[in-house]
Amino acid sequence: RKAAAKAAAHEPAVTRDGVRIEVFANTGSVADAQAAVANGAEGSGLLRTEFLFLDRETPPDEDEQARQYQAIAEALDGRPLIIRTLDVGGDKAAPYLPIPAEENPALGLRGVRVSLWRPHLLKAQLRAILRVEPRGQCKIMVPMVASLDELRAVRAVLEEAKRELGITDRVQLGVMIETPAAAVTADLLAAEADFLSIGTNDLTQYVLAMDRGNPELAAGIDALHPAVLRMIDQTCQGAARHHRWVGVCGGLASDLDATPILLGLGVAELSTTASIAPDVKARVRALSLEACRALAAQALEQTSPQAVRALVQGQTNTPL
Ligand code: PEP
Ligand code: MG
Repeated sequence: RKAAAKAAAHEPAVTRDGVRIEVFANTGSVADAQAAVANGAEGSGLLRTEFLFLDRETPPDEDEQARQYQAIAEALDGRPLIIRTLDVGGDKAAPYLPIPAEENPALGLRGVRVSLWRPHLLKAQLRAILRVEPRGQCKIMVPMVASLDELRAVRAVLEEAKRELGITDRVQLGVMIETPAAAVTADLLAAEADFLSIGTNDLTQYVLAMDRGNPELAAGIDALHPAVLRMIDQTCQGAARHHRWVGVCGGLASDLDATPILLGLGVAELSTTASIAPDVKARVRALSLEACRALAAQALEQTSPQAVRALVQGQTNTPL
């Protein structure tokens, strides 16, 4: 099985009934981009830009960022690259971002809130991304969004950066769905975002009100919890209303039990851990979208993640 998956790693992933699913990989460095390509990923659905910003005294300037993003884009050899704007704050502190001590860092100044709190940093980052050639290879996405106003504020800075650089082409700007607020208002966000990408790690943490870093809770945190699946369902429905595509870039994209459910709910792109990409592609090829839809509908009616897993494992005889 593993050998067969490996052999077909560089072929596209198409379901038995002919639906193409994009299988991407998450990245955080040039080496990750090389690993993505080596494993047959068709692009990167999430570049975590924090690697450039942490463990240093001053933030990287626009030129340094532009060089790094360019190197990663080149390592992907023309494949799409979705660059996430800075997602620091809370527990990921940087000395040049004096975030006051917080009682609940996970609910504090983080993600897009930090970018809008320090808009000059956001502007430099967006300009650096816009400078990557060839234009159009990079898309931008915004983490931790909880309301449409945040997307609008980021877009305003993006438009300003484009004007400064004399760029008139459309630049794709997407939203990460990581908060329950974003999931339940996905229709409102999709009206103005070019795509939605679900960050299931944070979404699960916030939906279940369980700290994703707490080892005592680790066994109980499962993104296949029906409450999370209902959020994903709502996200896909909201996006469909505006003909926007939905991807998953959280850990659930690398969970082979989740693949048929995500497809059935309407997810079109999976950004996985690079080494898992060949297995996810093989999984997609064994599925039919029609059966996935029926399975997803049943999954939404289960009462626990365990029941969801039992359902999937009982219905798809593809031991992996
Ligand atoms: C997520 O929350 O699922 C995600 C992809 O972002 P990160 O893991 O970087 O918070
Ligand atoms: Mg996240």
